[in-house]
Amino acid sequence: MVHLAEINHADVSTKHVDKAAKKAVLQLANDQDNFTTSVYGSRFATSDLPRDEMPEQEMPREVAYRMIKDELSLDGNPMLNLASFVTTYMEDEAEKLMTESFSKNFIDYEEYPQSADIQNRCVSMIGRLFNAPVGLEKGNGAVGTSCVGSSEAIMLGVLAMKRVWKNRRKAEGKSTENPNIVMSSAVQVCWEKATRYFEIDEKLVYCTPDRFVIDPEEVVNLVDENTIGICCILGTTYTGEYEDVKAVNDLLEERGLNTPIHVDAASGGFVAPFVVPDLEWDFRLKHVVSINVSGHKYGLVYPGVGWVVWRSADFLPQELVFNINYLGADQASFTLNFSKGASQVIGQYYQLIRLGKHGYRAIMSNLIRTADYLSNSLENLGYVIMSKKSGEGLPLVAFRLPDIKGEDEEERSYDEFALAHQLRVRGWVVPAYTMAPHTEKLKMLRVVVREDFSWSRCDALIADIKLCMTYLEAMDKEAIRKTQEFVRMHNMTSSRAEHNHPKFRNETHSIQGKTDKTHAIC
Ligand SMILES: *Cc1c(COP(=O)(O)O)cnc(C)c1O
Repeated sequence: MVHLAEINHADVSTKHVDKAAKKAVLQLANDQDNFTTSVYGSRFATSDLPRDEMPEQEMPREVAYRMIKDELSLDGNPMLNLASFVTTYMEDEAEKLMTESFSKNFIDYEEYPQSADIQNRCVSMIGRLFNAPVGLEKGNGAVGTSCVGSSEAIMLGVLAMKRVWKNRRKAEGKSTENPNIVMSSAVQVCWEKATRYFEIDEKLVYCTPDRFVIDPEEVVNLVDENTIGICCILGTTYTGEYEDVKAVNDLLEERGLNTPIHVDAASGGFVAPFVVPDLEWDFRLKHVVSINVSGHKYGLVYPGVGWVVWRSADFLPQELVFNINYLGADQASFTLNFSKGASQVIGQYYQLIRLGKHGYRAIMSNLIRTADYLSNSLENLGYVIMSKKSGEGLPLVAFRLPDIKGEDEEERSYDEFALAHQLRVRGWVVPAYTMAPHTEKLKMLRVVVREDFSWSRCDALIADIKLCMTYLEAMDKEAIRKTQEFVRMHNMTSSRAEHNHPKFRNETHSIQGKTDKTHAIC
């Protein structure tokens, strides 16, 4: 979704010119000096909140708080949002620590050396979790940094691969024009941003109706001398399936190619090491040079934190790293943004040491169990399951209605989009979407199983799915068609929605923009 707001050009200055309004403004100022009435008894309760122009006068804090809180109550309930991987629950102690760090600017290493050190501890723990080579000579081990999320982490990973490639080509006296990257058509939109922003060609490996991940052979066939690297996804956003990084690695070995692999483990990085520890996808594979993971997905931290780790400093060209002097020593920094809050990094450290490996393993195993239970229940209701079970992929359930053949086609009057809409009426956010390009005929629904999606909440969802099916089956076909048309026209979450800038409303240049979906698949 493009959240670019357009400035409202309505002439706001003329709105308040009449005398009565001016008087009201003065009265209002007086009110603020002795605000004794209740929020809903004040004049603010009967006027709209300022929208276009910053108000001239202050308003009492209780009013500002209550009015904004009330407005936000129309947002969905994060607990019922099954569309997103992003953390919606943390323990009180974690919240307390994070709140207490709100005022710390993470980049001020000199002022907040402990926060910087805590980041380095997290990088070390995450690097080891991904089997980064340790015990090497000092200065040659794995390096990494915290980011705002996997998107920033991926941008940094891509920049590093591009620069390593460019430096090598220069040294060989060869052209540095037209770098490319090989990746799946199921990549998250941030990969398209990275290639577009940094002017790298995309070489896409397409999914097929029965393969929702890359084909390793096709990937390696696409590699040429301008390939800066290959992206493999540990848990695609569509079906949660892990791409076969080892097969890509082994094929590169076989053909004597030295192409680097970056693993996008945004979701899988904190799942696979605990659920399928024997799966080789990380630095155990020689060609894997960098890995990103979202701390705010299965890293179990509230939004605003991601990580990127490189196998060794050799894969992070010196020119990209800036040294920031702190306490007389240099702290290396490689980020797109300068200032940011320290809370998220501190929250990540809390989770890592509070839960430990055992804690993460316990949570992730439970999520897999819940996902399997949901898969089986949906199968019993007649759905086709498109995601993996038993921890072979992410704890999510991607499912669709069964195929209908020939003359039966008239039989079923609703599709996945209608079901998603019906569930939304009950408060559940379960996105319906079409598969990645070349497979976009496949419609599906996806439920992400997060830490706070308990067994009983899962039962409540299953009961509601049954209810919605009964309702849709009883509904007149024409009525369903009209409802769907209406939803399509007015869907708030669609890129065509009213709150989007008109210039950007019909974005079609991205892989994602071309596909149909009720919600961002992230
Ligand atoms: C979520 C996701 C991203 C983007 O990560 P953010 O942390 O939201 O920036 C990238 N790749 C994959 C596979 C993802 O699931």
